[in-house]
Amino acid sequence: MNAITNHLPTAELQALDAAHHMHPFTANAELADKGARVITRASGITLTDSEGNEILDAMAGLWCVNIGYGRDELADVAARQMRELPYYNTFFMTTHAPVIALAAKIAELAPGDLNHVFFAGSGSEANDTNIRMVRHYWAEKGKPTKSVIISRNNAYHGSSVGSGSLGGMSGMHAQGGLPIPDIHHIEQPHWWAEGGDMDPEEFGLLRAQELEKAILELGEERVAAFIAEPVQGAGGVIVPPASYWPEIQRICDKYEILLIADEVICGFGRTGNWFGCQTMGIRPDIMTIAKGLSSGYAPIGGSVVSDDVAAVIGAGEFNHGYTYSGHPVAAAVALENLRILEEEGIVDHVRDVAAPYLKEKWEALTDHPLVGEAKIVGMMGSIALVPNKDSRAPFAEAGTAGFICRERCFANNLVMRHVGDRMIISPPLVITPAEIDMLISRARKALDECYAELQKRDLLSAG
Ligand SMILES: *Cc1c(COP(=O)(O)O)cnc(C)c1O
Repeated sequence: MNAITNHLPTAELQALDAAHHMHPFTANAELADKGARVITRASGITLTDSEGNEILDAMAGLWCVNIGYGRDELADVAARQMRELPYYNTFFMTTHAPVIALAAKIAELAPGDLNHVFFAGSGSEANDTNIRMVRHYWAEKGKPTKSVIISRNNAYHGSSVGSGSLGGMSGMHAQGGLPIPDIHHIEQPHWWAEGGDMDPEEFGLLRAQELEKAILELGEERVAAFIAEPVQGAGGVIVPPASYWPEIQRICDKYEILLIADEVICGFGRTGNWFGCQTMGIRPDIMTIAKGLSSGYAPIGGSVVSDDVAAVIGAGEFNHGYTYSGHPVAAAVALENLRILEEEGIVDHVRDVAAPYLKEKWEALTDHPLVGEAKIVGMMGSIALVPNKDSRAPFAEAGTAGFICRERCFANNLVMRHVGDRMIISPPLVITPAEIDMLISRARKALDECYAELQKRDLLSAG
């Protein structure tokens, strides 16, 4: 018997983990010394660890558990589908009911004429699909030189060779020979860190116009697409100034550049609409989806494309696909997740109840001596930790305050992530006002403890 031995003592689990399991985005040697926290179960917005601690998960796993943990309906659907048809592919003129139903449902929910879905196993895979699809699209239209995809510094689009190249994370580009050719990065609309003395709206416009500058420099005949998250997630929940997206849309229209909205985080209710592009008022040609598509209960992602893109790509054979494209169990789970999101009015709950309540409490955090700005859209928010609110100057020792704050959160049974000295949240969409109160009070306690520690270690100076 090879049971999953959750009930081994924590120390033994940690030792086995350290011996055999390589953690993603982790300094594994350092983790091995500390020991990983073992999560054993979860329900609603609460995780339980192997020591019995109950932790409020203000990150919804990795931005994905939109409907919350512990929904039996999804487990039941998965078990039923596994018994009926655990696997079949859709490569060779075959299909199956779960993938058909899911594609049709996504087409119904997606705005405009985004009516066609190419499935993948994850957001990274879907963005790899997008790279090949937009280049192939222009080749099929007789413009094979249009191969450059413009993206942004500090964007996150996944961790494979292609999607990691699209992303603008310098730490990722430094390892493994990224980026691939013909990916071009422009600056991000991050006013707090990079806006200097400019007015935020003026700055947003300027950063959008970098796209036009890049198109003109590269040559319109070289540019295939622009890709961006409606709200940057892993980069630190960077909410662009209101002037930014309308200008980007104008530029994409003017030069006939395909617009790819990476909705992997923003999609499925996170911003208070079904998709982030609706919140930002833009009309993408392609949307990348994953994460909230299944609330993380099964690995699945995809590219949702317009009638035009689907017609051009579909005119001949597109030599591309994954063994698990449209996996029947993942598709059935995603479909059930969408049913719950829709029938339980969870997107309405975000827009009308949870987001307004959270916004009020979140923005009030700026009364704390450590918090310079608080930004929030729907159920994704960030606060900037600063030594001096007026100058917006960063800490002399960048990243330490954020790290300490995250440690203090964890010690107070709250999962809040840090990106440098920005603290970010992305809780399950089903969070209630009472649970938001709990989130905020734990966050305040962690901020107080972080502040005390910074004072003690004399780290409260600006760089
Ligand atoms: C997480 C993420 C991805 C990558 O998705 P994976 O499922 O981890 O491959 C892509 N884009 C955005 C915006 C993401 O947040």
